Amino acid sequence: MSGFDLLIRSGLLVDGTGRPGRPADVGVTAGRVTVLAPGEAPAGSAAHSAAEVVDARGQVVSPGFVDVHTHSDGVTLLGAEGGGSALVRASVLQGVTTEICGNCGSGLFPALPERLPAMRAETRITFGGDVGAYANFASFAAAHAGVPRANHLASLVGHGTLRAGVLGPVDRPARPGELRTMCALLDACLAQGAAGLSTGLIYTPGSYAGTDEVVALAAVAARHGKPYVTHLRDEMSRVEEALEEAVEISRRSGAALHVSHHKTAGRYAWGRTERTLPRIAALRAEGMDVTCDVYPYTAGSTALSAMLPPWANDGGLGALTARLGDPAQRDRMRRAIAEGVPGWENTVGNGGWDRISVACAPRHPQTEGRTIADLAASAGADPLDVAADLLVAEAGEVTIISHSMVEEDVRRVLAAPYAMIGSDGVPKPGGRPHPRWAGTFPRVLGRYVRELGLLRLEEAVHKMTGMAAARFGLTGRGVIRDGAHADLVVFDPATVADRATFTDPLLPPAGIGAVVVAGAVVVRDGEETGARPGKVLAL
Ligand SMILES: [Zn+2]
Repeated sequence: MSGFDLLIRSGLLVDGTGRPGRPADVGVTAGRVTVLAPGEAPAGSAAHSAAEVVDARGQVVSPGFVDVHTHSDGVTLLGAEGGGSALVRASVLQGVTTEICGNCGSGLFPALPERLPAMRAETRITFGGDVGAYANFASFAAAHAGVPRANHLASLVGHGTLRAGVLGPVDRPARPGELRTMCALLDACLAQGAAGLSTGLIYTPGSYAGTDEVVALAAVAARHGKPYVTHLRDEMSRVEEALEEAVEISRRSGAALHVSHHKTAGRYAWGRTERTLPRIAALRAEGMDVTCDVYPYTAGSTALSAMLPPWANDGGLGALTARLGDPAQRDRMRRAIAEGVPGWENTVGNGGWDRISVACAPRHPQTEGRTIADLAASAGADPLDVAADLLVAEAGEVTIISHSMVEEDVRRVLAAPYAMIGSDGVPKPGGRPHPRWAGTFPRVLGRYVRELGLLRLEEAVHKMTGMAAARFGLTGRGVIRDGAHADLVVFDPATVADRATFTDPLLPPAGIGAVVVAGAVVVRDGEETGARPGKVLAL
């Protein structure tokens, strides 16, 4: 037998299937794994020589983590000069070897050629730099060929982007011909290797679509054997109705259902996971293929503009800022938040401006980390006016943190046997992004496995690896067995912990020693090596 490129010796192998850990050595040759009995590869033996040896005594060796829910579509494309490198690093240092982007209905493709310039202008604002806009998955993947990355990237097709790319940002049903075009673009992207269809039914322009439109598109995903992945139309007081819409879409289309970042947020929905989770369990017992993902925090993060009634966002960011300049329109928005609008989630009406803090406002860093209520009190102004002024001054693009959940709900979802882990990270340059982008996976392993005993180690690793890979068709990943792709993490179960906080959100975790992607060591002793073996994965 020839030597290995890499040999990870004397670790506890937690293989991603959920089975109990066992002592083993792991050899890597040409990017593929060989599992060896402990001691089968004695130090210095010619039969099992290795170019590099990692000593994993006292450590867990597991498959690389699959972050099933990111908004990292454009980050590598920003490049080092655009501030992308530090943001990409945060994901790799927490052990993520594959990110799945294109979530919540939003991505960088597809669009009809004539819509690409407008889409490019929007994505420049959304992603904090010029990351481009692409006709399809293949051109998105090709754009990454010139920007090497440390870990792998897979992408869903975002329904909102697809809709804007065919109809533009308009509030009306798709005409039959437009829907046919959307289905054809989706079909082509899925054939090229996109991972599935995502929706963000609280966000414009996805929110303009009725159930039938989404059923037609999900049926295309079903034909490819790929999942329908959804940010529900409501995650607050009407979360159960929104879940039923998703169930209907799955049933009518035949697509497997995956509920993104499942939560029941806002004071009227706290505790509602005691109803949504049994409902999902019952559907699974009936044979329906339904799963979800979750991040281990009681705060979410989204766009400040999503705090405004849906009509405020009609026509895109330019139209939004124009509306915000009109005092009469502001009064209409104030009333809508106070009184509610049928079919609209209304985060602020469900919680209050004191639960909304500014995460990223590049031109107003002094506002970052402060709540809108606090900023309003300091200025002696109405909170809606403070939010509106900030949006106008930032051309519509401000990211917020919303402290909208309770711990009991988060724990219930984490413990659900069909819930996998996704960071929902929204990496963009500057500001104070949600710490989940740098802390999600070590937080689950440190806080919820070691400290609270909510999950067994093997169970948590399965949620981060094998379960995720199976859901998203990452063949040969997410498990450690002979012949599997060598995407691996070595971590210390006694010390692994997140260190990223709301004030210091990109602090790397403790206890993640080594990360291996495609057989190359990308993190050694907790530091990036500079290796860039990552690829855009066509699934
Ligand atoms: Zn979402």
